[in-house]
Amino acid sequence: MENLFFTDNVHAAKKKVMSFLQKELEPIKNDINRANKIPIAILKKMGKEGLFGPLIPQKYRGTELGIIAHCMITEEISKINVAVSVSRTPCILMGYLLNKFSKEQQKEKYLKQVATGDKICSICVTEEMAGSNVADIKTTAEKKGNSYLLNGSKKFITNAGLSDYYFIWAISNQNVNPRGGMSVFLVEKDIPGLRIENPYNLMGINGIYNGNLELKNVEIPEENLIGMEGNGFNDLMDVFNIERLTLSSECNGIALAALEESKNYAKTRIQFNKPIASFQLIKLKIAEMATKLQAARLLTFSAAKLSEMKLNFTKEASMAKAYSSKTSLEIASEAVQIHGGNGYTDMYPVERYMRDAKFFMIGGGTTEIQNLIIAREELKK
Ligand SMILES: Cc1cc2nc3c(=O)[nH]c(=O)nc-3n(C[C@H](O)[C@H](O)[C@H](O)COP(=O)(O)OP(=O)(O)OC[C@H]3O[C@@H](n4cnc5c(N)ncnc54)[C@H](O)[C@@H]3O)c2cc1C
Repeated sequence: MENLFFTDNVHAAKKKVMSFLQKELEPIKNDINRANKIPIAILKKMGKEGLFGPLIPQKYRGTELGIIAHCMITEEISKINVAVSVSRTPCILMGYLLNKFSKEQQKEKYLKQVATGDKICSICVTEEMAGSNVADIKTTAEKKGNSYLLNGSKKFITNAGLSDYYFIWAISNQNVNPRGGMSVFLVEKDIPGLRIENPYNLMGINGIYNGNLELKNVEIPEENLIGMEGNGFNDLMDVFNIERLTLSSECNGIALAALEESKNYAKTRIQFNKPIASFQLIKLKIAEMATKLQAARLLTFSAAKLSEMKLNFTKEASMAKAYSSKTSLEIASEAVQIHGGNGYTDMYPVERYMRDAKFFMIGGGTTEIQNLIIAREELKK
């Protein structure tokens, strides 16, 4: 399957990435889960290794490997511990945003730091009353001389408390439709008026920082406006397509690991004097898991290919996200089933895969919203 999409460069990069992750991430993957904290050191090492830079030109310290390589890297990290990938995702997305929409001076100042993992990012859109409906955000940015004054709050923000750069979506013009009155601002940590809290624990993807932001008269220079004023909503829609492929790849990484664990277990677990892999009902599970995974990866890599070909891939990105998230949960659940009682304990990783997989039907746009997008695009025809 990979031969359909991977160039020699991507095959070579995969070997390098796998060997780096085996050395650096594999030994600590369970500690992350147990301690419920991703060590910042692993993110920094990944940054130095170039794992934050596939969508960033070499000129700005990226690797410029492209989106198919990015999906491959995301799968490889997620096979080992998807929470680490979820923490990397906002850095990838905000690197993409800076590269595509920011000014040269901003690229020099910020993008180079993001490309190498020297600065960690958060994408701050969701609010208490604006989840699926992102156009309903209430955070405001008011122009005052050469500054903007930001007021409002954000919810569920990944890397809250860990990030150096918070990219805040806010309404900069109250007099027009929010789709044309929204802008993006870069707010650096420790700025007066920014309060961050992490008041809850998550069902899965344990180890990530996630929390709420409050902005009270946060004053930032006008140079921290990213992209054109009023274009924040459009830029966000562009970023969302990349996010959907990233999250699909995270799901596929979980599913790859769940299938692998299931095959190993089924070949070694003896019942009725035979390995359970010899029973046809178990074989059916393995066959269906493998087929769903193949379909999910084909959807993801083919959408990534469209992106590399500079073609519209909005519908395909939503299809990949909706399908990969649904199937990774199904595959993880079957993995637990194949492991029997052991699967329901934390002695085996499959229970974690199942809890982790559920997140992806919610984060980055729910399955319902993906289906609305797919239907909208289909009905245009
Ligand atoms: C762990 C985690 C990390 C996150 N990280 C970030 C982050 O870094 N940055 C960020 O900005 N946000 C982040 N989010 C927020 C995430 O994007 C939202 O939770 C998600 O978009 C859904 O919004 P909501 O929770 O308000 O649900 P709601 O929008 O309230 O939806 C509730 C239910 O109603 C359904 N629904 C809503 N509208 C419709 C409709 N029109 N038709 C049919 N069904 C509908 C939804 O599909 C869902 O099932 C994160 C969330 C989590 C849980």
